[in-house]
Amino acid sequence: MAGGGHHLTHAIDYDELIPTAAAEAGRQDLSRHVEGVPGPLCLEHVTIQETALNHAIDAGAEVLRGVSRPSIALGESPIVFFEYRGSRQEINCRWLVGADGRTSMVRRQLGLKLNEDPLDHLIVGLLLEGADDWPQDQQSVGKFGDIHYLIFPQGNGKIRIYADYAYRGQARFNGEKGAYELLQAFDFSGVPHSKAIAQGRPIGPSRSFPSQDAWIDVPVALGVILIGDAAGYNDPILGQGLSITLRDARMVGDALLSSSEWSEATFEPYVAERAERLRRLRITARIATTVFARFGAEDIARRARIFQRLAENPTHGLVLSTAFAGPERVPARYFSPEFLDKLLA
Ligand SMILES: Cc1cc2nc3c(=O)[nH]c(=O)nc-3n(C[C@H](O)[C@H](O)[C@H](O)COP(=O)(O)OP(=O)(O)OC[C@H]3O[C@@H](n4cnc5c(N)ncnc54)[C@H](O)[C@@H]3O)c2cc1C
Repeated sequence: MAGGGHHLTHAIDYDELIPTAAAEAGRQDLSRHVEGVPGPLCLEHVTIQETALNHAIDAGAEVLRGVSRPSIALGESPIVFFEYRGSRQEINCRWLVGADGRTSMVRRQLGLKLNEDPLDHLIVGLLLEGADDWPQDQQSVGKFGDIHYLIFPQGNGKIRIYADYAYRGQARFNGEKGAYELLQAFDFSGVPHSKAIAQGRPIGPSRSFPSQDAWIDVPVALGVILIGDAAGYNDPILGQGLSITLRDARMVGDALLSSSEWSEATFEPYVAERAERLRRLRITARIATTVFARFGAEDIARRARIFQRLAENPTHGLVLSTAFAGPERVPARYFSPEFLDKLLA
């Protein structure tokens, strides 16, 4: 919360297949997912990054910013080489934690293969301010036309919006003009208050990213462990990236503190838990993509069938609470091929 956190308390999921009044009648209380937690926590990436960094410095960590030309020598005690303030430096490590994001240099140097789902949809995100008329503790997620929209208020009239859309060889909504087009696209006639978003002011870049899953089988090697996006990431359609990264950091931190002798075996519980966690999130993202981010004529008919099945068997919807409650709290049978067939066929 010190990093500018803002809780959302409820969701109203307006959608082209649901009359507005029915969507409002289906309003969800987001505090029901995790006891004692009012709802999802929204954070600004830059602010939480600085807060975490300052916390590390206060705790005694030495932080060097602005290093360049990093490389590593692998082995029982790895070495990190880099340039800092004009001089070449090296640091000997007992163990190296690679936390360097999607394009991880550490992962590449380890020669670990990144498995990727096909790239068939993109996600664009934009932070805006001045949207005071949008209810500040309400998230909304759904589909209208050629857009799967997601609306997450950040407090004080700031809102983060996302749109998933079909990738046909070209990104949409990029740059200043793209930001304006994105805001216009959010003026949905079926979403009360969406004018507040269309009239908001962008305060960040509008840029599209791949909306796909990417994973590696084993994120550990002699002397090195990977965490966060470096270890593989979930399709941003579910918004799990920071939760995954923070849990990774906690589990690896706990493993390091649990023993003074470190080996690949030290990280076995983390590696096993992460593999199953990401498998479940991958399946959930595939379901979310099928339900919200497929845009052909046959997909509209399929969505209608899925909505019908969810209405007839409300427990099927439990699988989507993976994104709120955590994948380990949803029964294993929801992540089986049989369940996927039943829901999505
Ligand atoms: C469009 C989009 C929307 C998203 N929306 C959400 C969301 O709503 N909710 C959510 O939880 N997550 C979201 N995510 C995912 C989230 O941003 C990431 O999962 C999360 O930031 C991963 O954290 P990380 O520390 O592993 O990597 P990063 O945040 O990428 O941090 C890696 C750091 O390493 C540094 N670095 C990289 N290479 C080097 C190097 N060679 N030397 C020194 N430093 C280096 C980088 O500068 C960076 O600071 C989204 C992602 C995308 C693409």
